[in-house]
Order: sequence, then C-alpha cells, then structure tokens
Amino acid sequence: MDKKIEQLRAIINDSENTVFFGGAGVSTESGIPDFRSTSGLYSQSYDYPPETIISHSFFMSNTAEFYRFYKEKMICLEAKPNAAHLKLAELESKGKLKAVVTQNIDNLHKMAGSKCVFELHGSVFRNYCMRCGRSYTAEYIVQCDGIPKCDCGGTIKPDVVLYEEPLDRDILEGSIRAIREAEVLIVGGTSLVVYPAAGLLQYYRGDKLILINKTELPQESRAALVIHGKIGEVMSQI
Ligand code: NAD
Repeated sequence: MDKKIEQLRAIINDSENTVFFGGAGVSTESGIPDFRSTSGLYSQSYDYPPETIISHSFFMSNTAEFYRFYKEKMICLEAKPNAAHLKLAELESKGKLKAVVTQNIDNLHKMAGSKCVFELHGSVFRNYCMRCGRSYTAEYIVQCDGIPKCDCGGTIKPDVVLYEEPLDRDILEGSIRAIREAEVLIVGGTSLVVYPAAGLLQYYRGDKLILINKTELPQESRAALVIHGKIGEVMSQI
C-alpha cells in the first residue's frame, strides 16, 4: 500500500491538472451511508426499493412516503467533511486540482472549501416550491412534519436529480469539459453503475486514470493505478 500511496503522490505532484470524480463512498467516512456497500441503503429493507422511492414518479404520486425516506436516510445535516473532502480542497487551493465532479448531494465538498464543484445530482441544501419557485433551506425541510409546504400552498421539492429526471445541462457540460481536459483523473468511492454520471469516464483521454475504492470495479483494467482502501485514509496520506 505504501508504494501505491507514493505513486499517487508522485502522479498528483507532477501534474497541474487533476480532476476528481466521486460518489457516495467519499462520504461514508463522514457517516453518510452509500447505496451499494453491504451496510448501504440497498441492503436495508423498505416497503419499496430505494430506486423506486427516489424516482420522479414516486415523488409525484407518493410525496409523503418519499419525504419519510428522504428525511430519515438522505439528509444528514450533522455530517462534516472527512479527510478526502479536505485534501481535495487543499489540492485545489494549491493549484493542483482543477475540479471535483460529484454524484453526491450532501454539499460536503463545498463545506470543505472546494470551489469548482460540479454537483451532478444536485444538493439537499437547495429546495424550492414547485408552484412559486421560492427557496427553502434543508433545515426547513427537516423540521417540517410530513410534506414540506410553501407559504403559497405549493409542495417543496429538493433540488436533487431523482431517477427519471435529466441532469442539468450546464453542470453536465462543465463536468465533461473538466474530465476531457484533465491530465490526471482520480475516480473514488463510486460503484460506477449510475448512468449517465458513470458514463462521464468515457470522456477522459489521458493515461493517468486512478481508481480508489473499497471494492473492486470492472473498470480497473483501464487504470494506471488502483488502490483498494478507504478514500479518507488514502487521501490523508497524500
Ligand atoms: P454506490 O453506493 O453505488 O457505490 C459506492 C462505492 O463506494 C462502492 O463501490 C463502495 O465499495 C465504495 N466505498 C464505500 N465507502 C468507501 C470508502 N470509505 N472509500 C472508498 N470507497 C468506498 O454510490 P455511487 O456510485 O455514488 O452511486 C449512488 C448514487 O446515490 C449516486 O448517484 C449519489 O447521488 C447517490 N447517493 C449520494 C449520497 C451522498 O450524497 N452522500 C449517499 C448515497 C447515495
């Protein structure tokens, strides 16, 4: 492992254009469960599968049940950035890292100080009324009983991309540009199965793809360096 950390350090040091692409595994060390680990949300049992609950059609037809799951499992306002978020922010401030592209909705990269963050799936910290467009905080959503309602009577929707919904075009284009122009691409804490986000990997044209994940991924044959481990522990040694 020490040799791999040394290799990772050297690759990052030698480049001025590293981009990070990550997923839910980046935040498990902050106490937010991912979806596909054995302790993740997909291993727990609910009345409906999680993919169903966090879909657009379910939100529209079963809003109360959606919010029960969402408030219990998807909003975690106490979570704090871990060593991975903090190291990425530090690398950006030193001019080494150009962008973070994340599938996470927990805001932890921005909280850690990262400035160029493409939140492909939105953020639980932004919420808006579907009728009048008024914005609401995540704290407001958490403290509402049942379905959060706007003063105008409209239903409030989190600004997160639910299954069946398209990604924001500007965020997608920015992510593609960053990945296409990256010299080094570090992919961490993602199972790379949620599309279209996982498809972004195809835009990387360099030969320094680094995968950091707790478990094996099918994409490993493409990578210049594969590290199996906890991303916070790995990044804190850089
Ligand atoms: P996923 O749950 O499908 O996969 C997570 C991957 O990270 C797994 O391969 C797991 O082995 C690995 N992992 C877990 N902890 C790790 C650690 N400490 N270090 C390194 N690797 C670790 O997650 P995904 O690929 O991001 O796809 C899930 C979707 O669910 C995403 O679209 C995301 O928006 C959403 N989601 C977000 C959050 C969040 O915002 N924190 C949490 C759960 C799910």
